[in-house]
Amino acid sequence: MRFFLVISILFSQLFVMAADHKCEIQAKFVSFGHKTAENRNIDVIIIHSVYNASGGDIYDVDLIIKQFAKYKVSPHYLIDRQGVVYQMVNEKNIAFHAGKSVLPDGGTGINNRSIGIEIITSLEEAPTDKQIQSAAQLVMDIKNRYKIKYVLRHSDIAPNRKTDPWNLDWNGFLEKINGKIE
Ligand SMILES: [Zn+2]
Repeated sequence: MRFFLVISILFSQLFVMAADHKCEIQAKFVSFGHKTAENRNIDVIIIHSVYNASGGDIYDVDLIIKQFAKYKVSPHYLIDRQGVVYQMVNEKNIAFHAGKSVLPDGGTGINNRSIGIEIITSLEEAPTDKQIQSAAQLVMDIKNRYKIKYVLRHSDIAPNRKTDPWNLDWNGFLEKINGKIE
């Protein structure tokens, strides 16, 4: 009897942890790096990575946001090393994250139709398991809400300019997001 009680408590704890993790999106809306839009058609998700290259902790969220401000760019979402998702721009608005880039179908103006997700990592280190889990959950959630044609890396759409997301097992990530939804 006691054994079953322990097991059921253990499972309920695990469930609560998983549920918490899934819902952990914190608002950090910014005033730069985006423009207001109405009724834009979202069909692309672009995955990036970023670190603070301006001195201090390379993984510090606020320093990274300061860096975005300096360059007047922003993703919609930023994921820290613990897997916490920060929302910086409302999905309905156009965030400046893709730059000059081209889709596999030849489409340009990618910011207009995409949601940008930045994962905090470095050239040397891979994203943490928690970050990958959060990114996959976020992408699956977005896919549930829009008819998404492409989930791509920044390096897929700007191969001559960009190398991010760094050290992310892309095939493993695609399996994670496709396995659960299709
Ligand atoms: Zn990028």
